[in-house]
Amino acid sequence: MFTAANVSSRMGTCVAALLLAACAGCGDQPAAASRDELAVFVSIPPQVYFAERIGGDLVRAESLVGPGANPHTFTPTPRQMTRMAQADLFLAIGVEFEVALLDKIRSAYPNLKVIPCQAGVPPREGADEPNPHADADAEAHDTHDDHDHDHDHGHDEPHGGHAHGSDTHIWLDPLRAKRIANNVCAALQSARPEHSARFAANLAALLLELDATHADLARRLEPYRDRSVFVYHPAYGYFLDRYGLRQVAVEVQGRSPTASELAALIKAMGAAGAEVLYFDPRFDRSNAEQIASQLDLRIAPLDPLAADYLANLRRIADALLRGWSKPS
Ligand SMILES: [Zn+2]
Repeated sequence: MFTAANVSSRMGTCVAALLLAACAGCGDQPAAASRDELAVFVSIPPQVYFAERIGGDLVRAESLVGPGANPHTFTPTPRQMTRMAQADLFLAIGVEFEVALLDKIRSAYPNLKVIPCQAGVPPREGADEPNPHADADAEAHDTHDDHDHDHDHGHDEPHGGHAHGSDTHIWLDPLRAKRIANNVCAALQSARPEHSARFAANLAALLLELDATHADLARRLEPYRDRSVFVYHPAYGYFLDRYGLRQVAVEVQGRSPTASELAALIKAMGAAGAEVLYFDPRFDRSNAEQIASQLDLRIAPLDPLAADYLANLRRIADALLRGWSKPS
């Protein structure tokens, strides 16, 4: 039981801690602990995981796309733009809204360092299958996404998503994520070279975990190789490719399917014996429910953007495994 003196001394400690915390935030004379801290903005929540795993308590990372936001249609709020003026680094990853954002950053915040963390990440090779609504044009227009390409992006699709057939969901492959993590580490090291060794040690630990997670997923998913996975929004191609699985999406380059596209899809699902339609819990649920009710499928969420990145990879695998009957 606490005595009165005890309580008051505990409160005293709390008040002192609060005052310290308030001082740390007051800017002019940052506390020693926060002087080195890097303020990092990123596009999507999985990047917060990478930045904080590698940066430890030297990095404070904030994702522009928050809970419930759709990265394909997202625009940063004026408040976020104001906060970015205070940031040390912006870690890009190649999602659509970055094209317009990076133009703004270049003109408004020329001192904010932008690091393209998708650099060196190879694009997917395999096409989604069986692709009942294949757009012959999509392949031809599939340009590697970089910041200098066509700023006219997003004019042609209601969701602005997956225009020109490019798949921006590169982070869901744990082996490509190693390249992303390396890029994040290099960015932090160049911003705070005095902490390079610490960042490198944190990176090494993360790379080991990425490898271990990948090995475990590969072992568990191997018996199901070549199966089709039916999804509403095609966010999982990088993950599925890695494990020899095929993504079949309802959505056609960011829009709902036409009647004939849907008919083709239903046929493909019937042929594949599909039982589950996976949806992105952030924005696909009612669309997925409608399709699933027509096809008599179960629906199940797969979150491509969860902030607990490694645990989420396992949740994706768990959901897929639950959706399949045992291999014959
Ligand atoms: Zn997406």
